[in-house]
Amino acid sequence: MQNQIKKDIHENMPRYIDMLSSLVAIPSISFDNFDQKYVLDSANAVKAMFEKAGLTNIQFLMPPSGRPSVYAESLTSPDKPTILLYAHHDVQPPMREALWDTPPFTATQKGDRLFGRGTADDKAGIITHLAALEQVRRELKGNGPNLKFIIEGEEESGSAGFERILTEHAELLKSDAVIIADLGNFAKGTPSITTTLRGMSAINVTLRATKAPLHSGSWSGPIPDPAQALCRMIASLTDKDGKILIPHYEDDIIPPTKEELESYKSLGMTEEIFRNDGGVLEQVKLNVPEDEILLSLWRRPSIIVSTIESGSRVNAGNVLQDSAYARIGIRLAPGMDAVRCTDMLADFLKAQVPNNMEITIDKEDGANPFTTDTNHPFFKKMSEAMADAYASPTKFIGCGASIPGAELFRNTLGNVPILLTGLEDPECNAHGENESLYLPDFESGIVAEALFFASIS
Ligand SMILES: [Zn+2]
Repeated sequence: MQNQIKKDIHENMPRYIDMLSSLVAIPSISFDNFDQKYVLDSANAVKAMFEKAGLTNIQFLMPPSGRPSVYAESLTSPDKPTILLYAHHDVQPPMREALWDTPPFTATQKGDRLFGRGTADDKAGIITHLAALEQVRRELKGNGPNLKFIIEGEEESGSAGFERILTEHAELLKSDAVIIADLGNFAKGTPSITTTLRGMSAINVTLRATKAPLHSGSWSGPIPDPAQALCRMIASLTDKDGKILIPHYEDDIIPPTKEELESYKSLGMTEEIFRNDGGVLEQVKLNVPEDEILLSLWRRPSIIVSTIESGSRVNAGNVLQDSAYARIGIRLAPGMDAVRCTDMLADFLKAQVPNNMEITIDKEDGANPFTTDTNHPFFKKMSEAMADAYASPTKFIGCGASIPGAELFRNTLGNVPILLTGLEDPECNAHGENESLYLPDFESGIVAEALFFASIS
């Protein structure tokens, strides 16, 4: 059966690429300053594909923004497991259109890659789910798992209404596992399941000493400088290697399992690759040694100053500024709690204020980090299916960024396994110009999902 599935998918790839191309042609950018008609158009296109595939109970799940998530199902038997399949049909803006080598909304194949906005992130995820369903229906007849589809319409603009959709439709979406096909592989041809995501949060700090800026000749000396004070406060957050100095900040971190550590090690990340990818200046020393790069990215928190401001460079002069501002961003390691860590950061800074200056702190809404129990048998099954499909061992990897949806699914569906897969790779340039999908992995990804469905039936 495995070989039949592989053969049939291979023969159908031109059709799957056409289906993907027809979705790429719709500029479904879910940002308010773009025409939201296209998000509705792409929801309708997904709906039409679901109808054509013979799915049932097809419906729009509507968030307040009006950017529909599309739901559909293919139910076989209550005795079979139920898998919820997630992807999103909205996309990022094309960014600087002049930098695209091919039109962003015309899928264009060059060599083994398909270029176009949304090819990798995340319209390929939609087609992967549909194609795998097709295979499993053909091969297993009515004996495949129950499949439920939810294709979100506002992931790229922050999933503002998605929690409400999940809560309102918790019963409809009830499942034994979720596949979120919105991440990617560590490298081309390396099948990867992401098992952790970092969380994030940020605070906006303003420190003020006077009611208005003052002539520095007439006033500086007796009056403290908010810019220097804020820099000192910020510097107290970490040591010179970026290690966070707030007491008990890292108490709740869940350490990686032995299996995860081994997997990270086997990925062959070197300092050279990392420095090149990040454009790190040659003379600059990293905060961690080579063998801790991935651990630092995936399993440890970081604090960075994303903006700092006092006066402005164009108007720089002999002025004692009235105030200083900084936006301080945090990335949270698995186990940490966004609210607790944001509060601790704010309290720590408040305790460092010199000369009793006025401090105001605005906290942004954060996202919790994510981990899932990789001991569930579905992980092993998926890992085997992917290794078979890609003809390469499956890696458990982490991700330094956040996908709020992963946590939302867990909060709504209970502690079911959440499998984070996807078809991005280091060259895909998702969110940037010339986004592309590596077609051999597109095929392997479909095969992997079909084999997984077959293995749990
Ligand atoms: Zn995405």
